[in-house]
Amino acid sequence: PAMLGILGGGQLGRMFVTAAKRMGYRVTVLDPDAQAPAAEFADVHLCAAYNDAEALRTLAASCAAITTEFENVNADAMRELAKTTRVSPSGDCVAIAQDRIAEKAWVNKAGLPTAPYLAIESVEDIQVELAPYLPGILKTARLGYDGKGQVRVNSADEARAAYANLGGQACVLEKMLDLKLEVSAIVTRVSSEQLSVFPVAENIHKNGILDESIVPARIAPALAAQAQQMARQLAEALDYVGVLAVEFFVLADDSLVINEIAPRPHNSGHYTIDACVSDQYQQQVRAMCGLLPGRTELLSPVVMVNLLGDVWQADGGEPNWNVLMEAPNAHLHLYGKKHARPGRKMGHYTVLATDVDAALEQARALKETL
Ligand code: ATP
Ligand code: MG
Ligand code: MG
Repeated sequence: PAMLGILGGGQLGRMFVTAAKRMGYRVTVLDPDAQAPAAEFADVHLCAAYNDAEALRTLAASCAAITTEFENVNADAMRELAKTTRVSPSGDCVAIAQDRIAEKAWVNKAGLPTAPYLAIESVEDIQVELAPYLPGILKTARLGYDGKGQVRVNSADEARAAYANLGGQACVLEKMLDLKLEVSAIVTRVSSEQLSVFPVAENIHKNGILDESIVPARIAPALAAQAQQMARQLAEALDYVGVLAVEFFVLADDSLVINEIAPRPHNSGHYTIDACVSDQYQQQVRAMCGLLPGRTELLSPVVMVNLLGDVWQADGGEPNWNVLMEAPNAHLHLYGKKHARPGRKMGHYTVLATDVDAALEQARALKETL
C-alpha cells in the first residue's frame, strides 16, 4: 500500500492517520513531539523539527502524497516537497491561511465579505483614522489560535497601546461585529469539477475556544446554502486542493461575513466522523491522492462537544467516561494526550438524535455528569 505523509501529529493528524489506515494506506507522521497524539497510530514517526532537512528528504522520498494538519507549517518546506511529490494543500494556499492580512485580502479579492479591517504592517499604518474599526479587535497576523494574540480595544489610544504591547508585530484591527451566530462550512476540492461541501455547523465558543458544534446549524436552509456556496467560491478562487474550513459570522440582518479559514480539517468538522457518509479526514486522504471527494450528506442530526483539560480533575484524574459509554447514541473520542491543562483540547464527543434540540439537550446533560 502507498505511504502518505502528514506534517503535524496533533489530534487532527491522529484522526487523519486513523482514516488513512482504515482505507488501507500506510502513514508517516512528522512531529517533533515524541508523544504526539498521531504517533502511536502511525507506521513511521519522524520525530524531528518541521524544517529538519533530513526528515523532509525522507518524507519526500517515501510518500506518494503529503498533507498538513496545522497551518503554521513552513510553507517553503511544502513548496520544496512539491518539487518531488504530491503536496496538498499547496504551500501558497497555506501561506495565505497563516497570515490574516493575506487571508482577508484574498477573501475580498474572491468577491466575499470580511469584517471592516485595517492591515497594520508597521507603526505608520496605525496612525490613521481608526473610527471605522472601533470598537474593534486587534489580532496578530500570525500564529493566533483559540483567541490567543487578540486584544479588544475601544478607542484609538487603546488600539495603538495594544499594538505596541504586541511588540509591533504585523496585526489586523478588525471591527467588532454584532454576531447573531457563528457557522462554518468545510469544502473538499480536488478540481473545479470535483468539489463537495459538508453541511453547515453552528459553532458556540466559550472563552474564545470552540465548545459545541450543532449540525444542521439552526439557520434558514437558504442561508446555509449561501455559506456553502461562499466556501466553494473561495476554494475555487484559491485554486485550492484539499480540505478547506471556512468560519463565518452571521450578522443581525442574516448576512454572512467570512471570519477566517483553515487549510485543513477543522474542529467544527469532527462531527462528520460519526454523522456523515464520508468524513473530513477521508476527504483529506481522497483529495491528496487526487481521488473523487466522497459524499457529504448528514446521516443524523448531531451535536459535538469539545472536552478540554478543564473537565479533568486537578490531580490529572479523568472524568467519568461511563456516562458517555452508557449513552447508546454518543461517541467518545479521546486524543491520547498525557497531560490535561485548562483550555487544552483532550477529546470530544458527539450525540446523535432525531433532531438537534434533543441532541443538544442530551449533550449538555451528559457534560454535567462527567
Ligand atoms: P481559532 O481557534 O478558530 O483559529 P482564532 O484565535 O484564530 O481562533 P478568531 O476566529 O479570529 O480567533 O476569533 C475567535 C472568536 O472571537 C470568534 O470565533 C468570535 O467569537 C470572536 N470574534 C473574532 N473576531 C470578531 C469580530 N470581528 N467581531 C465579533 N467577534 C469576533
Ligand atoms: Mg484561527
Ligand atoms: Mg476562528
